Amino acid sequence: MYPDVIYQLEPALSHYTIMATLNPSNHTIICSMRFNYFNSESLPMDVLVFNVYPNAFRPSGYIAVDDVHGVGGEKLQYQVEKTVLSITLPEKVFPGLNYTVTLDFKVKIPPREYRFGYSAKTDTYMLGNWFPILAVYDEDGWHTYPYFQDGEAFYSEVAIYDVSITVPEEYVVAASGWLTGEESAGGYKTYHFHGEPIRDFAFTASKNYKVTVEQTENNVTVKSYYFSQHERGGKIALHVAKTCIELYGRLFGEYPYPEFTVAETSLGGNIAGMEYPTLIMIDHRLYNTWRSLELVIAHETGHQWWYGVVGNDQYMEPWLDEGLTNYCENLFFEYQYGPEEMQAVIQTTVKMNYLIYVDRGRLDQAVAKPSYAFGSPEAYFQIVYNKGAWIVDMLRYHLGDEKFFKAMSTYYQRYKFKVARISDFIEVFNEVSGEDLSWFFEQWLYNSGIPKLGSEYNVDKGELGYNVSLSLFQLGSVFKLKIPIVIYTEEGSRHVFHVWFNSSSGSYSFIVRDRPTQIIVDEDNYILKVQVFTSLKQARLLKAFAMTLISLVILLAASSALWGYSIYKKGFEEKGKKLSFGPNFFTLFPRAVALGLRERLTRRPEALLTILTYTFVSGASVLNYLLLGSGAITWFMFVLGGLILLNMHLTIAYRMRDEIATYSALGGNPSNIAGIYISGNLSSAFIGGVLGVLWAITAYTLKMYFSYIRVEEIEIVKGSVYGLLFCIVVSLVSAIYPAVKVSLLVTPSILRIWKLPKNKVYITRTGDYAVELRLPFRFPIEWFKDLVTYVREKYNSSIWMRNLKWECTPETAILSFDRDTIDLVSGREGTCNVSIIAKRVGESAEWFMKVQSKGTIYARNERIVHQVADLVRKDILEWFCLK
Ligand SMILES: [Zn+2]
Repeated sequence: MYPDVIYQLEPALSHYTIMATLNPSNHTIICSMRFNYFNSESLPMDVLVFNVYPNAFRPSGYIAVDDVHGVGGEKLQYQVEKTVLSITLPEKVFPGLNYTVTLDFKVKIPPREYRFGYSAKTDTYMLGNWFPILAVYDEDGWHTYPYFQDGEAFYSEVAIYDVSITVPEEYVVAASGWLTGEESAGGYKTYHFHGEPIRDFAFTASKNYKVTVEQTENNVTVKSYYFSQHERGGKIALHVAKTCIELYGRLFGEYPYPEFTVAETSLGGNIAGMEYPTLIMIDHRLYNTWRSLELVIAHETGHQWWYGVVGNDQYMEPWLDEGLTNYCENLFFEYQYGPEEMQAVIQTTVKMNYLIYVDRGRLDQAVAKPSYAFGSPEAYFQIVYNKGAWIVDMLRYHLGDEKFFKAMSTYYQRYKFKVARISDFIEVFNEVSGEDLSWFFEQWLYNSGIPKLGSEYNVDKGELGYNVSLSLFQLGSVFKLKIPIVIYTEEGSRHVFHVWFNSSSGSYSFIVRDRPTQIIVDEDNYILKVQVFTSLKQARLLKAFAMTLISLVILLAASSALWGYSIYKKGFEEKGKKLSFGPNFFTLFPRAVALGLRERLTRRPEALLTILTYTFVSGASVLNYLLLGSGAITWFMFVLGGLILLNMHLTIAYRMRDEIATYSALGGNPSNIAGIYISGNLSSAFIGGVLGVLWAITAYTLKMYFSYIRVEEIEIVKGSVYGLLFCIVVSLVSAIYPAVKVSLLVTPSILRIWKLPKNKVYITRTGDYAVELRLPFRFPIEWFKDLVTYVREKYNSSIWMRNLKWECTPETAILSFDRDTIDLVSGREGTCNVSIIAKRVGESAEWFMKVQSKGTIYARNERIVHQVADLVRKDILEWFCLK
């Protein structure tokens, strides 16, 4: 069932012949693949290992292998484990010989906008890494890397591809290789593609494709497939791709294939483009943004040289393709718009991008590392792509254009259709430049760290002209640097000097005839470095400022922790029963919150300290975001700030018991009280958070004053929002436990020892038998009714009735005193400040009950004294608590 493919068998290459039918109704591809393996190793092989990447998308995407046959049609043993398919060969295949296996398999395409998936929105299929592709075998064995979502880890040898793709007629296919024929039958269309020698085969299919085609000066057919609504974008894509094929061809060596295809796709997420041999996929969102579209196409086209023709292990040495390619983008701008535009592009997209990353404290790392070793997608991108491209720019500056491009094209020619390593790249550069560049690559690729460069200069008038003396210094590690120094003079002339600098400080002098107006160290920012101070004094000042800031933060943290601990030790000796919810909660709640907040802000010393702690937490997190950006520090602050605040909360909770009792006496149940507590605490967090943001911005602005790097204002706004949110999250988390404790605190024994100021509910025992109760708020009449009933039933109510006049009907309860009567139902004003005080007065044990500013009632009976005391102390309070 294979078409007769006519080709000259290239003995050194394996050959894939694939027949694929795309079925859009269930998003599958039914495939039959004949793979002619050519053993180019130096040992016999008895197993073939393939990468089956679709299995990384399980369960929505996968490859299901149905059958594997050998040459004579016999079934072969195979095994699929995650993204690896191993086929056991019936016999050993010796070096220089070949063996053919046939695979039948089904590919399920996931519903995902990605380089492998389909987009229902744009009705487009993106089919990269969709079939079993032979893994690379070398002295380390078979290279089967896990699928790398954040970048590429596709590693394969070049091979011959003949791929026939059948799709429903309304679909248009763009693919790797070049079209050798197409035919239609029964509502289906079959495209035949051939590619040789190419490293992989990908295709896209869409109902919405239009195509525009142009030839390059060397007769490469460049095709741009675009969605019909993006005609202008499609044409720009074609122009950029064509320009790049010509430009890179001149700079590095000719593009070796007859066709190159740009396909508009839906890559989703933050993926702008994806490279495959002779085919690149570009995300549709770029087709209205000319500059980004140019940038991405210039990048992905660059990959035809670095990854496509010169292969590399993308997993272990990603710099070798991404670093070089990310630099290539800039060459397009240099050619198309001139060196100034190229400078503008490389400074913003590569250099400042990376500097901002480092300035925010993200970890600088060595470039020559495996993809998985960077710790985050951001780090991978910033180090491999941006730092990587900056290093290539430095290399070009260091060698000069002639040597640089000669070395690049030598590298290309030497490793064309092969796989190169970074060591091969270095070897070529050493050879072509005629100098040993090991120090350069060691310093920039294999070591991490960035020079912190500073300079200071002085100008004197001498006999021959003007004498410029320049001091350079490096803070921290010392790098070996070749630095361009540019001097502009009054007459408008520009002098460029190159100095070597590889110590912590050095002095240089230059003589110019006219009076210098400007002396600029590394004007074009060739050298990778983070800070350029204009004077040593500033550098020292910055350092001192940073040290002061850090020690202040540490001091505040330590003292807060100690303070919190010492009062916490006084701790909680009280624990209690649950309280039930009383009426009028909603009218009391806001007042209780207001009262709590006022208390917290005005009366308690720890309140101020809490706010200060929040200030510290929020300020430090803003600074961490803007300057350091370390996840570890964020977690550390979260834990440290959380612990300090937890201590303070517990202390405050202890001191707040009277207040809490008020809430509970007013009818709050534990969750209401916890809620009140947390909301009061959030107010402190907000006030502290805002103060923290303010001091952080002040500190940051001061730091920026000395810094070379400018961070966009939006970052400051973002940092402030993060800081405030962080503070609030810390406050919520650290307040949960104390809030729960607080809500369970109210017990008679606690009530007993409370002392409250005027205008508060307070119940206190001042002597053995003295209890005092004051209620500042309007409280529900039902309580009094209940209280009276309770007392009547349980105790000798006549005691109460004799001295205090209670009248209790189902509708009203009136508490009468000698001089006054208070209506607790209707006369809501005037119902505050009710006090019932039982007090033993000296030996005579005279008891009186007093209504503050309303009247006094005495009891003169010893038995009554005890009874009242007991009653009030234990039972009324307990009654309140049970209430
Ligand atoms: Zn790339």
